[in-house]
Amino acid sequence: MKDRSHWLPLAQARAPFWAGVDLGGTNIKVGLVDDDGRTVAFHTEKTLVEQGPEDVCRRMGEAVHTVAALAGVAMSAIPRAGLGTPGPQDLKAGFIIRAGNFPGFDGFNVRDRVSHHAGLPVTFANDATAAGFGEHWIGAGKRLESLVLLTLGTGVGGSIVIGETTLDGANSHASECGHIIVDPAPTARKCPCGQPGHLEAYASAKSLVAMAREAIDSGRAPALAGAVAGGEELTPELVWALAKGGDQPAGTLVDEVARWLGIGITTLLHTLDPAILLLGGAMTFGGEGDPVGKAFLGRIRSEVQSRAFKLLAERTPIDFATLGGDAGYVGSAGMARAEHRRLHPTDA
Ligand SMILES: [Zn+2]
Repeated sequence: MKDRSHWLPLAQARAPFWAGVDLGGTNIKVGLVDDDGRTVAFHTEKTLVEQGPEDVCRRMGEAVHTVAALAGVAMSAIPRAGLGTPGPQDLKAGFIIRAGNFPGFDGFNVRDRVSHHAGLPVTFANDATAAGFGEHWIGAGKRLESLVLLTLGTGVGGSIVIGETTLDGANSHASECGHIIVDPAPTARKCPCGQPGHLEAYASAKSLVAMAREAIDSGRAPALAGAVAGGEELTPELVWALAKGGDQPAGTLVDEVARWLGIGITTLLHTLDPAILLLGGAMTFGGEGDPVGKAFLGRIRSEVQSRAFKLLAERTPIDFATLGGDAGYVGSAGMARAEHRRLHPTDA
């Protein structure tokens, strides 16, 4: 993601440095950031999950040494690393629980093994939570006392950051905003977690594709049907492209996702009253700079206006996140920094 031309020159950086590791199903991203969260080196490689947890952890630990060497920073100038992985997790114990994309990882102590190979203490985090912390540290939530981030991708991730604290919960299952109930009806869509009516069943890339498939099958989306018949893959990007071209059924699908998000977000505003609510991830339709992204955000806001307390609807900004694919490693590094400062208050 971050190529060399975007790295901060070491002479301009402020020590100490913090390593952030973002473990995804396809790629591992590792960045080294300075004490202001600015990237001084970045490395990415394939996860190759089939090689097993020990191998993946060894390569993540070694990648911390790689970014230190790329930046020309001594390991002794890095007090701690952060590691973000998909959930669900047992954050206190240091492992991933029943993660379908990570066979063999259940109960394997990724935190301690990465720590061993990196030679550093490691702060273990949920990847969605880490992304929110990154936005809080240097992104769209900078200098605000709290935020909620919804990451719209294959699923719907959630992050709740209050002050320097992320909300993890007693069982590491807090901030799972994708699984709040938005539709209690018996006809509700089933969430990938197995339960019906959750936000993720309406607002993820997977659910948009499912809804688009239904629109095609019922004859409501002839342009989409034509594109798919012509060999195009049915993806959120295809729906986006057609909506951008003025196809009304595609626009309606984007609108429908926005409406469900507005319903879910209303609950989050009433529960948490965050200083800002952010939307990130791959499925944001080009964001503010794209007419579809702009309409998407507008529709979410208007749904919130029609359902939330007037004061909250008026005062809570609902915006796109700004760190993109860097949010995970930057946030993991930031969480490592925050933990270090908690453990060693005299160093800060
Ligand atoms: Zn669910």
